[in-house]
Amino acid sequence: MTPRIPLSVPSVGPRERELLLEAFDSGWIAPAGPQLDAFERALAELTERRRAIAVSSGTAALHLALLAAGVRPGDRVAIPTLTFIATAAAVVHAGASPVLIDSDATGSMSPELLERALAQAEGEGRPIAAIMPVDLYGKVADHERLGAIAAAHGAVHVVDAAESLGATGTGGAAGSQGLLSVLSFNGNKIATASSGGAVLTDVDALADRIRHLATQARQPVVHYEHLEIGFNYRLSNILAALGLAQVERLEELMGARRAHRARYRALCADVEGLEILGGDDEGDNCWLTSLIVDPEATGLSTTALRESLASHGIEARPVFAPMHVQPALDSVPAADRVLDGTADRLYATGLSLPSSPASSPADIDEVCMRIRTAVRTAAPTGDRA
Ligand SMILES: *Cc1c(COP(=O)(O)O)cnc(C)c1O
Repeated sequence: MTPRIPLSVPSVGPRERELLLEAFDSGWIAPAGPQLDAFERALAELTERRRAIAVSSGTAALHLALLAAGVRPGDRVAIPTLTFIATAAAVVHAGASPVLIDSDATGSMSPELLERALAQAEGEGRPIAAIMPVDLYGKVADHERLGAIAAAHGAVHVVDAAESLGATGTGGAAGSQGLLSVLSFNGNKIATASSGGAVLTDVDALADRIRHLATQARQPVVHYEHLEIGFNYRLSNILAALGLAQVERLEELMGARRAHRARYRALCADVEGLEILGGDDEGDNCWLTSLIVDPEATGLSTTALRESLASHGIEARPVFAPMHVQPALDSVPAADRVLDGTADRLYATGLSLPSSPASSPADIDEVCMRIRTAVRTAAPTGDRA
């Protein structure tokens, strides 16, 4: 059953319908066409990049970005342990294996632990080929710092910006940093194409390489010649039309999520033991608001709070289970798990809250009211909030 107040569902309307039908009526039904070209131009502009290549998913985009970055079978790639599985899956798809780096308090990849991992790998004579930090929940990581650390150790810097379209960081727009960066347009993201992704870069040769790999590595001759095996990863022109309409509405979609964030901020200012993951809201696209719930101060576990909200038709979800607890990644050796307990703590105490643009201010006020009530009835002193 769909929850009454869902976690994050897309907001689509007349503009999406109009552009979709326009693409349909134009006859451009294949993974080529004017809407796809316009979508790529819009993405390059939004992310301050020379080139954007739209593909069928964010995961496909990450896979191609790693290949274009020169990651080869047997290589190791440093990723944050606190992320969605796709970050790690792309590393495995490229034949490489992940080195799992713990978070700092904001949830982003810890620069100190990254430095330690890169230095140690270098010392052992098996350097880490690339790093792929993530802009967790729409907050741009410190890519200037992470990128400088990577460069000092000869590792390529690829950015998983799947969650941060529209945000800004110290170095500029989300997606503008790293040799290559990646966006996702999955259904739950800040802008959706139903499904889709994109690779961004300022290097034409890399962009051309990615387009080539995404189109079955077909040579530019009429007789279907292939010098290597590629992938069928291109995005449908129809879906690009949907993505284009969403990107046109990005400010509006972000504005709604930021207004929800402001309400959650007010809640946290009022109730002891609640804070928002990610530090301040500077530049954040506020894709998802995740609460960090101090069990001592609130008397509540995240499970108890989540179940209490669910009983009122409100959907909340735990923060991502870190990669180092995923059975699918059991084979990552202990030496490639550079952890200090931060992601475990954020996972145990983090709860993502309803953040959909279609939710009304009254909906979010209700979520806040239910959280207040849950804390008040649970707290040992009984008089908080
Ligand atoms: C959504 C997401 C992806 C994958 O995108 P898809 O389009 O779903 O394949 C990759 N990384 C992160 C951090 C994501 O949140």
